[in-house]
Amino acid sequence: DGAAGERLVDRVLTAALDAIEAAEDELGRLDAVAADGDHGLGMTRGMRAAVAAARSPEAGDTLSGGLLVAGTAFADAAGGASGALYGVLLAETGAGLRGEVTGETLANAVDNAVRAFVELGKAEPGDKTMLDAILPFAETLRARADDGPVAAWVAAAQRATEAARATADLVPAKGRAARLAERSKGHADPGATSFALLVTAVGEALSAKT
Ligand code: ADP
Ligand code: MG
Ligand code: MG
Repeated sequence: DGAAGERLVDRVLTAALDAIEAAEDELGRLDAVAADGDHGLGMTRGMRAAVAAARSPEAGDTLSGGLLVAGTAFADAAGGASGALYGVLLAETGAGLRGEVTGETLANAVDNAVRAFVELGKAEPGDKTMLDAILPFAETLRARADDGPVAAWVAAAQRATEAARATADLVPAKGRAARLAERSKGHADPGATSFALLVTAVGEALSAKT
């Protein structure tokens, strides 16, 4: 149902924006450890543009259409490596969610988005990037698909949160931080951290009674 899709996309993106605004300074500090410190700013700019785009007429009234325009707007507004990468994740997830949302269709859509993400960024597991939170997220979403989309998402977000924390032990091999890799020791990857915050906020919004 169109109107329900429109409300859903607004609810999840607004929850994601709130979480990112609250974490803007922390994400900036994490990115400043071994890179240029702009990740918090880029994420808030990107998410504000994504929410505005999802509310615009071009979004139409479906979840799929809302995520598609949100992804493009995110990439344009956020800039940087993570802007383009998050833009692809959002847009490709939207492209994969044209029909009914089930645990299975959601896992398929996210897998498809992860493939496009890897094609663009060329990161490998263990390179200390967002991918190190995204892969365990996608795996859990698939493993828990039979529990339904909301329960699977919440479990996957928990897994992503643990995985993002665990990136503190990794050495960056992609992105700006790779140049000052030693400095990053003991600190979580900024992109993995923002990803965990985003999917956690979305899980809470999906679980909340309306
Ligand atoms: P920039 O490095 O352009 O300033 P951001 O600071 O917004 O961009 O984002 C940095 C984050 O982007 C990193 O913490 C990492 O998670 C992610 N990232 C950077 N390059 C890649 C890549 N090639 N593949 C996957 N993720 C990447
Ligand atoms: Mg940066
Ligand atoms: Mg930058």
